[in-house]
Amino acid sequence: MRTFFAIICLPAVTILAVTPSRSLVDLTEGLKAGVARVDITPDKPVRMSGYASRKDLSTGVHDPLSARVMAFKTEGKRLVLVSTDVIGFYDGTADYLRSAILAELKLQPSELFLTAIHTHAAPTLTVNKDRDHPNNVEYTEMLKDKLIEAVRQALDDMEPVGIGLGVGSCAVGANRRELRVADDGKTSIVLGRNPDGVTDKEVLVMAVTRTNGTPLAVAFDYATHGTSLGPGNYVISGDVPGLAEQFVENILGFGTIAPAFIGASGNIDPWFRVLPAFNEEPGWIPEPVLLGTVLGEEVVHVYHDIKETRAVDRIESKYVTLQLPAKSSQGIVAQKDGTVPFQITAARLGDVAFLGLGGEVFTEIGMAIKAGSPCPHTFVITHCNGAAGYLAPKEAHLQGGYEPTSSPFAPQAADIVIRESIRILQDL
Ligand SMILES: [Zn+2]
Repeated sequence: MRTFFAIICLPAVTILAVTPSRSLVDLTEGLKAGVARVDITPDKPVRMSGYASRKDLSTGVHDPLSARVMAFKTEGKRLVLVSTDVIGFYDGTADYLRSAILAELKLQPSELFLTAIHTHAAPTLTVNKDRDHPNNVEYTEMLKDKLIEAVRQALDDMEPVGIGLGVGSCAVGANRRELRVADDGKTSIVLGRNPDGVTDKEVLVMAVTRTNGTPLAVAFDYATHGTSLGPGNYVISGDVPGLAEQFVENILGFGTIAPAFIGASGNIDPWFRVLPAFNEEPGWIPEPVLLGTVLGEEVVHVYHDIKETRAVDRIESKYVTLQLPAKSSQGIVAQKDGTVPFQITAARLGDVAFLGLGGEVFTEIGMAIKAGSPCPHTFVITHCNGAAGYLAPKEAHLQGGYEPTSSPFAPQAADIVIRESIRILQDL
């Protein structure tokens, strides 16, 4: 019989707080979980998302796309976390997909985290038949049906589980706000690589294990864009996060699913970024595969170092729409009162927190939320239940550059999100 009482020491010098020892009997009466994985690779050529300059349809598939579902239940309360190998839920597709899943499975709004891994090598989601390619509209409808069935499968096939947590570190993500100094001495921030800039290297891993000790799911949270491939790429791929998921699943076996969640990475790209294609030169390891493997190997190392499985007897969740101050510049579509809505979804599974943000959030904001969280481990999950655009701290607005310029939010919005996120987590 396993012991549920231990301290895990990890290379990142992290010591986990632990809950009191539980017996196996408690575990079977406590948290139940079910998982599902469904292939969502497009079977027709599609428009791909992430780069406005890319106009043609996809020409092939490098690696498959999936949606991965973890569903949890205790005492009538449910929590469903969905990781989807797409860029995000833009153009109203978050509400379209969420409302269908919530209605079909009779879930409360706070019980569903619909998240995307932000790969820029996946189909554009759209429900706009007049404007967008019919293959993309068809794909999005197909995705809706597949997500409903995957969530249903996870909810229908549950078993007693315990939860294990571990923390690692990975340098795959790099700050992309590069300072350029022109010949005349003028400075600007461009999209590039800033090795001295802030990055959150934490790899947070949650193992969901059966009573026999085998893993149902090994979920991980890491802050990077899925942009090792650029607009020149026309083949479908999960990019770095998706390739990491596939690597972990191949290594662990047992039908284990390895959903990726994307941390606050609005200003973080993979170390090798925006490449024109998978390099097929003999002997060369294509960069997305290399970086996805580095991240995946760290996830597996952290998973193997998790010595304790703890019982969980409590699920709490909350779904909040913040009305954030909009930028006053032209072209930003704010509501009449000058605000832009922003979704926050928060949940607790015992002493593990999940904080979903409906936008592209700078890494400093995610780090501040983690630091202020009342829980020892907080999954900050962006591209969750909404796609409100970039959220950048005040300092970034002063510096300028792509993200603050295209952000719909006023400079003070980031501090509001940090404050409200921590307050919501404290209330759970
Ligand atoms: Zn992005």
